[in-house]
Amino acid sequence: MQFCLLEGRRAGQIRKKGFSKRLISVLLARCLCGHCEAMASAVDSMCCREVDAYWALVQDLVPATDITCLTLHPGFDACCLNPFSLQVAYLNFRQEHGALHASRAEQFRYTAYRQVVRWAHGFLGREIRKAIPACIVAAIRRQYPEEGGTYRGFQWPHMGDDQ
Ligand SMILES: [Zn+2]
Ligand SMILES: [Zn+2]
Repeated sequence: MQFCLLEGRRAGQIRKKGFSKRLISVLLARCLCGHCEAMASAVDSMCCREVDAYWALVQDLVPATDITCLTLHPGFDACCLNPFSLQVAYLNFRQEHGALHASRAEQFRYTAYRQVVRWAHGFLGREIRKAIPACIVAAIRRQYPEEGGTYRGFQWPHMGDDQ
């Protein structure tokens, strides 16, 4: 992978030319955090490091850390992967909007997307999947595959209205 070997110097040269962070990551084969997986479309292929609202969460962590991806931030697990946090968030959603008629895995994934958008942006827009970095989508999909599963040995809790 020539790109990887050259990445540091290339990024510096490209940045000097005034290209946007987005273009830099495209030129450097997209992912800067090392945790993104290929997504179906370019729109879905943003990296957490190229979306300021997401990367700021890592940069604002005190004391500063050298973590390379938002999925490694302690808050990501606590707010967006932990099934008990998601259960409570879902119950809140259900009270306001009604049940989400979907599998339990999908309820967890949908709630996790809502959580990460709210965490990063402070509010929720209509299209919550829009612009969620690929590494985050991949981590949520891995944690909540359709077959059901466990989290640190605990079975996912019920959401109260499983299909
Ligand atoms: Zn990435
Ligand atoms: Zn990332």
